[in-house]
Amino acid sequence: MENRWNDSDAKAAIKKYSDVAEDIALRVYTSRLIGADPSLVLHGGGNTSVKLRTFNKVNEEVDVLYVKGSGWDLDTLEPPGLPGVLLDHLQKLRNLDRLSDEEMVNEQRTHLLDASSPNPSVETLLHAFLPHKFIDHSHADACMVIANQPNAEKICREIYGDKIGVVSYFMPGFALAKASAEMYEKNPNVEGLMLINHGLFTFGNTAKESYDRHIHAVTLAENYIQKKTLKPLISLESPALKAGEETLMNALAPILRGLYKDRSEKDWVLHHRADVQAKAFASSRECETWSQVGTATPDHVIRTKQKPLLLNLQQWTDPDKLREEVSCKLNSYCESYHQYFEANKSAKGVDKTELDQLPRVLLVAGLGLVTIGKTVKETRISADIYQHTIDIIHKSFSVADYVPLDASDLFDIEYWSLEQAKLGKSKASALQGKVVYITGAASGIGLATAKLFADQGANLFLVDITADTLGEVAEGIRKKSKVGVVSQVLDVTDEAAVRQSFNKLVQTFGGIDMLISNAGNAVQGAVGEVGMNELRASFELNFFAHQVLASEASQRFLTQKTGGVLLFNASKAAFNPGKNFGPYALPKAAVVALTKQYALDYGADGIRANAINADRIRTSLFSEQVLKERAEARGLTPDDYFRNNLLQQEVYDTDVAQGFLNLALAEKTTGSIITIDGGNIAASPR
Ligand SMILES: [Zn+2]
Repeated sequence: MENRWNDSDAKAAIKKYSDVAEDIALRVYTSRLIGADPSLVLHGGGNTSVKLRTFNKVNEEVDVLYVKGSGWDLDTLEPPGLPGVLLDHLQKLRNLDRLSDEEMVNEQRTHLLDASSPNPSVETLLHAFLPHKFIDHSHADACMVIANQPNAEKICREIYGDKIGVVSYFMPGFALAKASAEMYEKNPNVEGLMLINHGLFTFGNTAKESYDRHIHAVTLAENYIQKKTLKPLISLESPALKAGEETLMNALAPILRGLYKDRSEKDWVLHHRADVQAKAFASSRECETWSQVGTATPDHVIRTKQKPLLLNLQQWTDPDKLREEVSCKLNSYCESYHQYFEANKSAKGVDKTELDQLPRVLLVAGLGLVTIGKTVKETRISADIYQHTIDIIHKSFSVADYVPLDASDLFDIEYWSLEQAKLGKSKASALQGKVVYITGAASGIGLATAKLFADQGANLFLVDITADTLGEVAEGIRKKSKVGVVSQVLDVTDEAAVRQSFNKLVQTFGGIDMLISNAGNAVQGAVGEVGMNELRASFELNFFAHQVLASEASQRFLTQKTGGVLLFNASKAAFNPGKNFGPYALPKAAVVALTKQYALDYGADGIRANAINADRIRTSLFSEQVLKERAEARGLTPDDYFRNNLLQQEVYDTDVAQGFLNLALAEKTTGSIITIDGGNIAASPR
């Protein structure tokens, strides 16, 4: 394991955080070094601390423990992510016989230096009861291989001699903190502690010493493991192994989304982690038993559940049979989860509400690691964790065995309020888990709609005809709204490319819930004189492209059996054509008919089709030249042209976006065409 300490970076950190004590700056620096290595900690795992003497408001000297706050990740830690707690008080708590988790949280919160700080880590007392200035804690992969061995203590002696103390498993909190302090006091020469089934602590007088010891301890574990021969995996004999990843994902993902929605009434997104090791593991005979034992470290359970769902598909060419096959597997997973819940609930005599039973991690023969969650972020976290878990499991069995926490201890962690708090209980946004395909997404109405839908939690598949700003736009939305956004340069009149783009969509998110078919182009010409090629080209873009997109989307909706939403950008020209605007108005009138036809043909399948007739929106559709001509045709200046409506107000692309959102959420509305044009009686539908 690489030691990433670098003197000049450490100095730079001191300079960067010059408004806090040097020790805090260095604490942030080495915390980030640990956080930056995914084989040490992942997504909120691990914690670090430093003890400092400082002055309180009335100028009294106080000792303070600065420890990682919950909600912060080590790789992005900043000084405010290290809440300060009065150390004397924390240490006094050690004299108590017992302290419940709620009492512990209360004592920590009421002794913060700053009332606005986040809650200190659940392992705060462990940091407080040890005397060292700097303490580092990780769930390093190599240490988890060792800490999950049946004879972990013996192996630790072999690797570390008496430099690392071994602490048997306790749930994080008061009891673990006490046991760890006792272990240290028995042998004050230790440089760290190995917590069975949990992870590694090291300590030191300086940030560098504690970090160096941490990396050294992990390196020794790695060296030990490396000397063992990695057990070869024996491949399953399954026809699915020859099917190809894209084929399997295309067949499986929409069905999974549908089955999950059926069972939860929520929307889910999938993620396939392209990873050779994960695929080999998922396609192996060993996977059947090895993957079903448990998580590498306890807090992974809230991200991966105790075990993944295994699938070795037999029926991927027939959607109905595949649905039945997967549904059957899912039922038995859920049934077994329910039994685990009931058994532990009654054995422990606790009053808990069962969490949803659905697996978050799937291992699919021939495909590999697939994760499913309510947000793209959730799916990435589970996949990151499980990728490392596969490696840990494989190495553990190669060393000897893998004996992680049993179901009873995992239940305590999974249903522990302090762990559940990490998932956050914020109210889901209206479109969370939805996947929305938007055409013409790089500018104007398409862009305004993309932003608005992302704000509501939707994941986006954005296409536009040129790459000009598309990538930038996608990146901007992804950063701001924290949703999944994928973009593709696509000419919507290229039928084959459009159909293929839906495969990419399924590979990325697992399926689709809404199509916003928006791309179009204004073509002018007197109807009796327009060239047939020009008219046909307008129909290709302004009508047939809508049809190809809608037909692909509908077929995916039908496979998912989730229903779906089709939204078209028609135009007021459909009802109220402008003079010499026939080549645009004719296909748009056909789009209105298309909307009604989809509403009619697929209403019973829960697919809703609606359209918006917008008028006079200042977008790239109107080149300067077209704008001038359209305004002149009505005897108006361009500005007056945009305000020439009943409300006498200009209509913006954001108004149209709001219209699309309203229609997307109007669950009982289909076959409807709404106008967003500031009021134009001649164009109002009748
Ligand atoms: Zn831990």
